[in-house]
Parts: sequence; C-alpha cells; structure tokens
Amino acid sequence: MTKYDFDLFVIGGGSGGVRAARIAAGYGARVALAEEYRLGGTCVIRGCVPKKLLVYASRFADEFEDAAGFGWSVGETRFDWGQLIEAKDREIARLESVYRANLEKSGVTIFEHRAELAGPNAVRLTGEDRVITAKYILIATGAAPTIDTRVVGCEHVITSNDAFHLKELPRRIAIAGGGYIAVEFAGIFAGLGVETTLVYRGEKLLRGFDEDLRDGLMEAYAKRGIRVLTNATFWRIERTTSGLVGALSDGTAIEADQIMFAIGRSPNTAALGLHKVGVACGDRGEIKIDADNRTNIPSIYAIGDVTDRVNLTPVAIREGHAFADTVFGGKPWRVNYSNVPTAVFSTPEIATVGLSELDAKAAGYELDIYKSRFRPMKNTLSGRDERTIMKLVVDRKTQRILGVHMLGPDAAEIIQMAAIALQMGATKADFDATVALHPSAAEELVTMREKWTPQ
Ligand code: FAD
Ligand code: NDP
Repeated sequence: MTKYDFDLFVIGGGSGGVRAARIAAGYGARVALAEEYRLGGTCVIRGCVPKKLLVYASRFADEFEDAAGFGWSVGETRFDWGQLIEAKDREIARLESVYRANLEKSGVTIFEHRAELAGPNAVRLTGEDRVITAKYILIATGAAPTIDTRVVGCEHVITSNDAFHLKELPRRIAIAGGGYIAVEFAGIFAGLGVETTLVYRGEKLLRGFDEDLRDGLMEAYAKRGIRVLTNATFWRIERTTSGLVGALSDGTAIEADQIMFAIGRSPNTAALGLHKVGVACGDRGEIKIDADNRTNIPSIYAIGDVTDRVNLTPVAIREGHAFADTVFGGKPWRVNYSNVPTAVFSTPEIATVGLSELDAKAAGYELDIYKSRFRPMKNTLSGRDERTIMKLVVDRKTQRILGVHMLGPDAAEIIQMAAIALQMGATKADFDATVALHPSAAEELVTMREKWTPQ
C-alpha cells in the first residue's frame, strides 16, 4: 500500500481528463476524478456536441428551399426552439450518463465537486472540505468564455454557454468575434431565421485559416444575409425597452435582442491553488508544461485547454492518453501537433488540414498551388448560388502535400480522410494516382491538374 489515497487524481471530467482517468485505471492505477459541473466537459455538455446538433437544425431551412428545384413542394414549415433545446438536452443527459458509466466501469472514483490544489500531492474537495492525497495530480480543467469587462454593460451579454439554454430564439442577435464560435453561431442563428450580425475587430473572419476559405466564407455569409461589421468592437451595451443597444468603436450602434460574446476562451486556472503550490503559468493564465505534459512541479501534470495549445477535443483526448500511457503504462509517447485537422461548422462548412498558403510561405517553402472553385452538383437544380472551394498547398521541391483546404458541404467529412494522406506524407503524384469517386465533390481533390497562377 502506498502512502497516498490514490495513484492519480484528475481535476476535470472533460474530454482530456476522462480519457486519462480511464486509461490510467486500465493499467491498474487507483484513480479519482473530480468534476464541478457535469461529466463530459465542454465538448459534450456545452461545446462540440450540442453545437453540432444546433447546426443540423439550422440547415433544414436550406433543404426545404432547395427541395423545390427537385420537384418537391414543401408545405408551410414552422420551427420550435423550445422543442429543439429539449431534445438536445435529453441527448446531452444521455451522453453524460454514458461518460459516468464508462468511468465507473473503469473503476474510477468520481467526486462531483470542485477540486483545488492543496499541495504537490494533495487536492481539496471544496464541497466536502476534505483533502485527498495522490501520487500524481492531473489538471484538466479546460477553459471558459472570455468576457471583455472593459465593455460598459458587459453584464448584459451572453456567451456560448448561455446560447445553448436561451428560453426563446431571439429575433435579432449580434455576435462579437470572428473565430470558430462566432462564425458557427452566426450560421446557426441565421439558419434558424434570426437577423444576425457579426461584429469583428479585424478585416476578415477566421484569422489563421487559408485566405481563400476566409474570402469564400465572407462572400457566402454576405449572400446568406449575415451582416459582418469589420474593424469594429463593442464598447458599451445598454438595455432599452425594445432590447439591447450596442455602441461600436466605429461610432455606429446596433440593436439586438441578444448580444453574444465569442472572443476567445481563457484557461480555467483561477482559484485553483496553483500559486500556493508554485505551479508556473503563462501570460494568458495557461499552465506551463513540458513535452510530456508535466508542470514545473514533478508530481503535477496538465493537459487540454487549460494548457492553451491546440484547443480541440481530439487533441485533449490524445494528450490525456499520452499522459496515461507514459506515466502509468510504461509506453511513453508524445502528441504530434502537425496535421491536426479542424473544421468550422459554419454553413457552408470549412475544414482544413496542414499549412495554409501563407503559413507555408512563411515557413520558407516554394509552393505549387492547386485551386478549384465550382458549383456543387446539388446547386444546379436547387439554384443555390454558392460555390465550393478546394485547395491544395504543395511543396514544389518534394511535391509533398502541405495543406488541404475546403469550403463547402461535407468539408469536415472529406478533410478527415485527406488528413490520413497528409499524415502518411502523400505527394501530389499520390493524389493524382488515386482514382476519382464520381460523382462527388471530394473527387476534385484527386483531379486538379492545372497549377494555379496568380492573375
Ligand atoms: P473541458 O472539456 O472543458 O473539461 C474541463 C472540465 O473541468 C469541465 O467539465 C469543468 O467543469 C471541469 N472543471 C473546471 N475546473 C474544475 C475544478 N476546479 N474542479 C473540478 N472540475 C473542474 N472542439 C472540437 O474539436 N470540435 C468542435 O466542434 C468543438 N466545438 C466547440 C464548440 C464550443 C461552443 C466550445 C466552447 C468548444 C468547442 N470545441 C470543439 C473545443 C472543445 O470543447 C475543447 O477543446 C475540449 O472540450 C477541451 O477538453 P478539456 O478536457 O481540456 O476541457
Ligand atoms: P477564437 O480564438 O477562435 O476566436 C476569438 C475571436 O475573438 C477572434 O476573431 C479574435 O480576433 C476575437 N477577439 C479576441 N479578443 C477580442 C476582444 N477583446 N474584442 C473583440 N474581439 C476579440 O475563439 P472562440 O471563442 O471562437 O473559440 C475558442 C476555441 O475553442 C477555438 O479557438 C477552438 O480552439 C475551440 N473551438 C473549436 C471549434 C471547432 O473545432 N469547430 C468550435 C468552437 C470552438 P482576432 O482574430 O483578431 O484575434
């Protein structure tokens, strides 16, 4: 028997923490996990999963509209927000119970309390005011929406956390931000018929994504009636009898029923006892770790959004898995952060893997670029005026594919498959040698022959 209550104490029952706990327990470790809100964490409870369900809901309007071109007469349609949220909540509760059952099956002891560090090998459960000791502690507390408290009246705004539980669908919404969440929720609300405005401080949405996708999305959102106000931020928000009025930095004002902030997320490190124990944090509050997810305190590790590296669920899960294999399984490995595929579930959808053209250039590559911009077949009969964009970024010297980028229906599904090829080091010749699957949009990826030359 060791001198500790547990071999591992995981703080946070989200994507990364749950994976680490289960894998470590599978190696025979005595594992405990504390979760202060709901098991499953951001992704399951108020992130990826409920978001995707709302995205599905928002796309039916397109289907009804497009159906006419295929001979269908769709009768009067009606949307019930309350019914959608209720159905979504049922599914999330089901998933939460699956997470709980899986942890229990793995032999993990669950504490449904907030936990804080009480020492290099000790955690305090705030609900029970009880201290538990463990040989190792893993911090997997994730992140939370950032609110810009310099904005006067910021108490009136909602974040993505609240958007999943609105009592009623607003008639008008203004969303601050131009990243994943702002763009995805703008698509959701617009699809559900809400008058939607994005207020972005930069020139073009989705900084960091390939320029062609960014341009394509700006064009598509404009056509869909989503108003994008650029070079603007909120500085004051007031409640009036008819809703909210947001004063913008460019001197204009915007009226809305809800104003949502999606201006990034901050690591959940506040009041976690980090300073007391001496765990080092960076400027953004993120926990500093080495390549093996270890903090400066040898018994304390951290993974996932709280370390603010690549803030995506599959990455947090891999980090949790790598941690458990390394520390408890005697099989050390490190997460490879190159070629992480990612999607923005806007409508139309964006997905990408590898380097953008600009990043590849900045990394010193000479490039061959292949681009295709076409009307997806479905839009021929539906008449929808929207183009799909596909792009390959190729290293001229080795002909290795450095990046694959897409805007259009099913982009996420297609890019996940392209990511396998990139991971294997595929060249343009490998893509060319692959037989097309016809008729599909994805076949464009293996049929692009003409190098793109700037006009
Ligand atoms: P989390 O999943 O956030 O889990 C942390 C857990 O710790 C939480 O349950 C929290 O309650 C708990 N906790 C915090 N402090 C304490 C404490 N002191 N004691 C006990 N418990 C504590 N990623 C994708 O890959 N694809 C997507 O489509 C996607 N969509 C998203 C949509 C939205 C709206 C948001 C907000 C995020 C989305 N993400 C998406 C990102 C993804 O959710 C995160 O990257 C992922 O959940 C990170 O996992 P994690 O384990 O680090 O943290
Ligand atoms: P992002 O970092 O994606 O975007 C934040 C946006 O807010 C940027 O446009 C940024 O502008 C802007 N911004 C930052 N600070 C301010 C400020 N003070 N005032 C006004 N605007 C500001 O964060 P999100 O909140 O959208 O999402 C958080 C993370 O969650 C994502 O980065 C991603 O890792 C993950 N996520 C993943 C999803 C997916 O995989 N589909 C979906 C949702 C979230 P600028 O560009 O100029 O910096």
